[in-house]
Amino acid sequence: MDRRRFIGGIFCGIAATGIGPGASSAATGSARFPEPARDIPLRDDADVIVCGGGPAGIAAAVTAARCGARVRLFELHGCLGGVWTAGLLTYIFDFNKPGITREIARRLDERAARTVVRPDQFVYATEDMRVILDEMCAGADVRFLLHTRVAAAYRDGSRIATIVTESKSGREAWRAPVFIDATGDGDLGTLAGCGWDIGQGGDCACQPMTLNAMVTVRDAEAIRDCISFYGGAPVHIPAVEHFLAEIRRAGAETSYGHPTLFQARGNLLTFMVNHEYGVKPFENEKVTESTVRARAEVHRIAAALRALGGRWADLQVVATAEQIGVRDGRRIHGRYTVTRDDLVAGARHPDAVARATFNVDIHAPTREKNRSEPISHGDLKMKAYDIPLRALIAKDVDGLMMAGRCISGDFIAHASYRVTGNAVAMGEAAGAVAAIAAKNGRLPHEIDWPVAEAKLREIGQRG
Ligand SMILES: Cc1cc2nc3c(=O)[nH]c(=O)nc-3n(C[C@H](O)[C@H](O)[C@H](O)COP(=O)(O)OP(=O)(O)OC[C@H]3O[C@@H](n4cnc5c(N)ncnc54)[C@H](O)[C@@H]3O)c2cc1C
Repeated sequence: MDRRRFIGGIFCGIAATGIGPGASSAATGSARFPEPARDIPLRDDADVIVCGGGPAGIAAAVTAARCGARVRLFELHGCLGGVWTAGLLTYIFDFNKPGITREIARRLDERAARTVVRPDQFVYATEDMRVILDEMCAGADVRFLLHTRVAAAYRDGSRIATIVTESKSGREAWRAPVFIDATGDGDLGTLAGCGWDIGQGGDCACQPMTLNAMVTVRDAEAIRDCISFYGGAPVHIPAVEHFLAEIRRAGAETSYGHPTLFQARGNLLTFMVNHEYGVKPFENEKVTESTVRARAEVHRIAAALRALGGRWADLQVVATAEQIGVRDGRRIHGRYTVTRDDLVAGARHPDAVARATFNVDIHAPTREKNRSEPISHGDLKMKAYDIPLRALIAKDVDGLMMAGRCISGDFIAHASYRVTGNAVAMGEAAGAVAAIAAKNGRLPHEIDWPVAEAKLREIGQRG
């Protein structure tokens, strides 16, 4: 079967099945299936349940456990780390904060798996990150399950009480006094009935997705002019321009106007060349199409470079990411919304859980915009600003916190605070507050931030 017919076949199969809450009406038609109710196993053995094991989720789970809570963590993929690992990211911003960010940096250094670019930025090796996060969660007695999707949430009045997961072990129910949504896309908040926003509002486009890949070359040194931050030098745009020129010399085009190479380790490089436009993370059919199209683009560009011969002759794709990278997901409504005005004013809050310094980074939402301006910065002069605890506490549902890119914010603010140094800091704050609330029979919004800060100092995660 030729490749085009094969891909077409995949999409037909999905359309016919039409499974999942993201399935469009075009996929399902008007037919409905009345799924029968059934009894499933229930576990009630946690103080805090964290959904999603990305940068925010691991920080939340480890911190809550170190604060004395019994913690369960559920992660959809086969590794912890989210975009750091399943997404093959390899670059970290806004990471010079106390606590878990420092601990991860130290652990990467112990494995010689990090190249520092600036005090708050570095390149790292993804496989080492996987092992470090396993060790940190196991070391803190976090009970975590991989390959486990959070599929439903049920409330007791206004309070989230029970979630349901799905895995090869079947459907299972889990209860806890406090839950943290660290799914990036706000899955838990949505399932529990919270309001949310996405992209620029209405049906406006989101930031594009990107499928990262890892490639090997014979000698990274020979293509150093094309590798961003090679050897720790703060050189990015000239490297992007050289790499783009080489791709064009090979007769190929990229859907991302700033194609980027990072040196993860030795001759192993991250290969970021793709943008997928106008896709929301809960439109499963479109996410699948995008992933397949992006993977084909990665291989097409790699083959074209290889055909140049010379310093590109041995370029091989060793892996495409298990998860296409999602920049824009749902932002769950919280008790405070971080906005563009906060960035302009350099907002300060008494309940500040993190100070964000990364600029507004908006990848072109359409292919046309990508041609003229692949990345823009929101047309504002930004100052470092605080993220308050209230933005991490759900407004519509009690007992529920958020951490990472699904906290409460507007499109512009999200384009800044979403980077992973902030995700970790938010996770630590949510973990400490959740643990204190659960252990004292209180709700997260009843906990004063200084109490949680004192607990973070006690466990050595604040100066
Ligand atoms: C292509 C790309 C490039 C980026 N570049 C940078 C960069 O250079 N530096 C930087 O610091 N940041 C960068 N970012 C931004 C940053 O990576 C994210 O915003 C960050 O991952 C936020 O962390 P998180 O923990 O909130 O989300 P995620 O990393 O997305 O983690 C969420 C986790 O939840 C899991 N999950 C989702 N749904 C469920 C469910 N229903 N049940 C169970 N588990 C679930 C996922 O599998 C995942 O592991 C980039 C993002 C993308 C997409």
